[in-house]
Amino acid sequence: MFNSWHKSSPLPDRAGNIVSLETLVIGRGLTHLPAMPSEPVLRALIFLSAFGLLALAEGIAPFRDTTRRSRWPGNLGLFVLGIIAARIILPLGAVGYAAWLAGTGAGLFNLLQAPGWLAISASVILLDLAIYAQHVLFHKIPALWRLHRVHHADTEMDATTGLRFHPLEIVVSLGIKLGAITLIGAPPVAVFLFEVLLNAGALFTHANLRLPAGWEARLRLLVVTPGMHRVHHSRERIDTDSNYGFNLSLWDRLFRTYRPEPAPGEANMVFGLETFRDPRERRLDTLLTQPFRTPLPPDETCQDACPKDRPG
Ligand SMILES: [Zn+2]
Ligand SMILES: [Zn+2]
Repeated sequence: MFNSWHKSSPLPDRAGNIVSLETLVIGRGLTHLPAMPSEPVLRALIFLSAFGLLALAEGIAPFRDTTRRSRWPGNLGLFVLGIIAARIILPLGAVGYAAWLAGTGAGLFNLLQAPGWLAISASVILLDLAIYAQHVLFHKIPALWRLHRVHHADTEMDATTGLRFHPLEIVVSLGIKLGAITLIGAPPVAVFLFEVLLNAGALFTHANLRLPAGWEARLRLLVVTPGMHRVHHSRERIDTDSNYGFNLSLWDRLFRTYRPEPAPGEANMVFGLETFRDPRERRLDTLLTQPFRTPLPPDETCQDACPKDRPG
């Protein structure tokens, strides 16, 4: 069964008794899960496998040349700070919260006493819809856009762009996610699956990868592909205001925000924003202050040796 991933996080049930996550999940009718390592270890293994495979694939079939040396420390630094911020605010994580919620009996699927398979699959799909809606909000509300533009200011794209979110955006997202979990009454296993899919999916959709045209077209019928999400990172506003989906491509088609190609065409598209293009904006310290300031003034001291906004 769940081995250690429940033992470390006993939670109060509906009557206030301390119970394990396993008991709560079994109580939802899911009794045949295979043996697995602890939740954080399992997540880390899946994440590192996906990251390794995509980094390899980016070397084999890249969409463009990219600069790793000047971008990765900032992008990965934000990722680590985001994890720390989320765990400080909610040490048990969203999965632990869902397990606690199941014990209270609150939320749609907890109230309906829905069968496990239905509650899990519907919750994963509804959480994906919630993340689509959240992404639209982060673009439309100016204060939220200040946080989210840190993600968009990357002037190149690869898997690490999918990890580049300001820690405050991670915290706000966590609050919205907990709200969605509460309304849906999402089972802990669904939240776990959703978070794993979201993390691996973010790496995939931002990957510097040129998929064969046939794969790209067929995959897009169901899921968001690198080619589809690339449009969202175009410098052109009309492109940025499209393709908000994270996992399922359905939501953009349904809400008419789908855009198959960037306005300038794939070959000519420019990633990033009009501003924050100075290479100094890639540093971790400047990334952290980006939401609260205007772009850095030109670096007058470097003169002819100024770093250019080019790979290298
Ligand atoms: Zn966005
Ligand atoms: Zn993105």
